Amino acid sequence: MSEIIEIPYISGDGAGEDIWNASRESLEEALIKGSEGEKRIQWVPLLAGLKALDKEGVLLSEATIETIKKHGVALKGPLTTPVGGGFRSVNVYLRQIFDLYTCIRPVRYFKGLPSPLKKPEMVNFLIFRENTEDIYRGIEWKEGTHEARVFLSFLKETMNVSLPEDTGVGVKPISRGATRRFVKWTIDYAIKNNRRSITVVHKGNIMKFTEGAFREWAYEMAGEYTPPVTFDGQNGTLLFNDRIADNMFMQVILRPEDYDILLCPNLNGDYLSDACAALIGGLGVAPGANIGDHTAIFEPTHGSAPKYTGKDMINPASFLLSGAMMFKHMGFDRASDLLERAIEETIRDGIVTYDLARQMVGVDPVKCSVFGAEVARRIGRKY
Ligand code: NAP
Repeated sequence: MSEIIEIPYISGDGAGEDIWNASRESLEEALIKGSEGEKRIQWVPLLAGLKALDKEGVLLSEATIETIKKHGVALKGPLTTPVGGGFRSVNVYLRQIFDLYTCIRPVRYFKGLPSPLKKPEMVNFLIFRENTEDIYRGIEWKEGTHEARVFLSFLKETMNVSLPEDTGVGVKPISRGATRRFVKWTIDYAIKNNRRSITVVHKGNIMKFTEGAFREWAYEMAGEYTPPVTFDGQNGTLLFNDRIADNMFMQVILRPEDYDILLCPNLNGDYLSDACAALIGGLGVAPGANIGDHTAIFEPTHGSAPKYTGKDMINPASFLLSGAMMFKHMGFDRASDLLERAIEETIRDGIVTYDLARQMVGVDPVKCSVFGAEVARRIGRKY
């Protein structure tokens, strides 16, 4: 009798359902093969976002929250957030209520992926993104509202700052405490996993007391680790340095080999994740993890790609790779390796969805479901 491992999942909005359908078998097969038949997944389906609103009348029910809390882990597809008005992001809310303060987004080239770079094999970064603060806290007021007017008059009367009446305003909070715990988590990870360097990515020359302070507190934390962490990286120590964000976007393209872990405040990490994904074929192969002290939620970097809903087209690899990260987090290393190797092998064999095929010469795209089935077949066949 194999042990049942319960894993909550949210299939997500838009093209999320296609990805989930294409991925399920590979994930199940990886755990069975990886545990030599001793473990098998029992999925616990959960609703969130638009589907939850439709069926349960709320974007995120207490039942969903409690189930994730009980299991301490979940695999999540993308959820739609309207631009401009409408509801706030359920993705961001989930990170905030479970205090998932570290977001990890690996950007790793493997053979078979198309890339605009001459030496894509040099790309192997981890983007670490602070996940609870910054503009993402969602503290903002629409132009013309009572709250915006109160805020503008406070600025004028108390702080001597005058802004036009038709200004919308937002607040960018970055605190010492949240920065230090995130930086500590990242440095501990880097030491444990023998990484070479950590580069703080900030815009501290302009936003001195938010991103500048983020940089300062990051160095302060790193200084407490001496000698395993140093600022020159000599004698096998972990190099700790920083780059201004606009320069960083150039550096990852021109000199990817110089970088390892990129440590970012929330918004920089978000921008940089998509830009770096483009170096290795795009968002179709960009996984992610949101990790806190008690709970972790694994999800692809991409969104719900609404125009592809139900078309069985988009690439499920980022969701599958997020599943591999989840297996590793749960201690199922072999299942994680099997899954990752099968995805890499499928792509190396030229079996790719439209997003990668259109960057290659003479390659016909397969459907999302076909890619998933090919990954599952490789796990089942080979290992
Ligand atoms: P998106 O859903 O990430 O899609 C942008 C483009 O990226 C797609 O049109 C497609 O490019 C490509 N793409 C994304 N995922 C892909 C995949 N698996 N395979 C192949 N190509 C893929 O971003 P968006 O259109 O800006 O956002 C749509 C919705 O998702 C919004 O409501 C946004 O708020 C939400 N969102 C959610 C999350 C999350 O759940 N964590 C994250 C980001 C955005 P082509 O058009 O060139 O084919």
